[in-house]
Amino acid sequence: MEAPSSLKQQEFSLASVTHLTSPSVSSSSSSVVATFSSSDNHLRIQESDSDDAFTFDLSSAQLFKLAPLQFICVSESLDSAKEKSFSRGVMMKFRDDKESKDFSDSFEEWTKDAVKQGSPLPNGTVSVNKGKFDNKIEAASAKMYFHYYGQLLHQQNMLQDYVRTGTYHAAVMENRSDFSGRVVVDVGAGSGILSMFAALADAKHVYAVEASDMAEYARKLIAGNPLLAERITVIKGKVEDIELPEKADVLISEPMGTLLVNERMLETYVIARDRFLSPNGKMFPTIGRIHMAPFSDEFLFVEMANKALFWQQQNYYGVDLTPLYGSAHQGYFSQPVVDAFDPRLLVAPSMSHVIDFSQMKEEQFYKIDIPLKFTASVCTRVHGLACWFDVLFDGSTVKRWFTTAPGAPTTHWYQIRCVLSQPIHVMAGQEITGRLHLVAHSAQSYTINLTLSAKMWGPGANQGGILQTSSCKFDLKEPYYRMSQPQVYPVVQEPLAQSQDIQIQSDDLEVELLQQNANAQL
Ligand code: SAH
Repeated sequence: MEAPSSLKQQEFSLASVTHLTSPSVSSSSSSVVATFSSSDNHLRIQESDSDDAFTFDLSSAQLFKLAPLQFICVSESLDSAKEKSFSRGVMMKFRDDKESKDFSDSFEEWTKDAVKQGSPLPNGTVSVNKGKFDNKIEAASAKMYFHYYGQLLHQQNMLQDYVRTGTYHAAVMENRSDFSGRVVVDVGAGSGILSMFAALADAKHVYAVEASDMAEYARKLIAGNPLLAERITVIKGKVEDIELPEKADVLISEPMGTLLVNERMLETYVIARDRFLSPNGKMFPTIGRIHMAPFSDEFLFVEMANKALFWQQQNYYGVDLTPLYGSAHQGYFSQPVVDAFDPRLLVAPSMSHVIDFSQMKEEQFYKIDIPLKFTASVCTRVHGLACWFDVLFDGSTVKRWFTTAPGAPTTHWYQIRCVLSQPIHVMAGQEITGRLHLVAHSAQSYTINLTLSAKMWGPGANQGGILQTSSCKFDLKEPYYRMSQPQVYPVVQEPLAQSQDIQIQSDDLEVELLQQNANAQL
């Protein structure tokens, strides 16, 4: 699409338009044209059989999508002589997806510069200048998310993941030529560590964009490294909302969450690409892959099933808990398990799904559909699907992979396992098929739908017959963290001692410290 800023006028044809403020004038069998115009900064909607045009001031106009082909456009009243205290609007219908999408993309571009700040509409609050991020993410989720990243302890946790930070450092330093003399944007800069790596690799200038209060700490940290500070500008704000004075040659970011896509920050990364990266610019990392393989883990399965047994009690202080047993059982089996497991638990060679950060459109992250196909290596009970990811730094000098695979040095992402409440049985050589369907939700995560099937064995196999199928739904936002903890044994109390008499022994202190250390490492 041509950049609207370079256009004086842009026209779209509509299937129909309905004036909301005077619905009786609703139309139309005639043709309708919507025209953006830079001369007066207006969007004008005109029907061919009418002299009246409906005109919106782009500085206050907002577009709401009602259906794939249907929008409402609302703006402040233009007519000072009439009812100034009301907003006005039209419902617009398009003929096909392409026309509808082209129009909404253009609307965004045309209003980007025009909308500087919201002017209150007296008849209600229609928030103006809500960015792409705020439109799709619940305010409560965003608040918690940026509060979390605003704390140094969580940034420290990531910095202390030496596999992660060390790989980024190596990828930048060994590809110095990609950074030297270049303009770099650090997408979600956090403490500013990647900005400083880029500056160490002689970047001409780095824009460190960070939405949380961590931006202030990043400023402080960068200021304390004066040789780098003169080439780094920290910008506090959301990548989706802020403006930069120049295009970037390189984007650097660490937008990966559990299962690669959790936190929905990859969408921010590709928005940054579309907004800030020059056409042949580089992205560090460049692509990501989700790897998947079926696993067998009787111990984990029993552990999860046992958790719900609490609700099997018929006499809990005189109360029957069993009505909630089913819900509790389902609840536990909707939590993806996060821990580092032994790769020997995998029962088939893994497969992978590639996500190319340089090509992927933001909307393609909303639903990710992965058909599954494996061949079992052993005769076993399959308890679910194990997933991990890796990303590639496709540098000009060195291509470096960063992996979170089981068996590789453990990272703070560990691995993730979706455990089926009903395991399936397979023979060695038997085909396992299925589907992993990820649906993004407004709490910055995904609903995971998993189906695994054991394909028909022998003669029926060619007809695609299925012997056994098991499906489960998981919420990636609610993982069960199951990292192995050092065992701390409870202090044995003297049978006769009263609780207030218990002295803290030196051993107890040691146990306490052990426990503190264990917690600190998690
Ligand atoms: N780059 C740092 C931090 C990575 S964590 C490092 O590698 O150590 C991701 C960071 O991105 C968090 O600090 C988070 O607040 C920030 N972030 C996430 N979404 C963002 C957005 N839409 N705009 C700006 N910052 C964002």
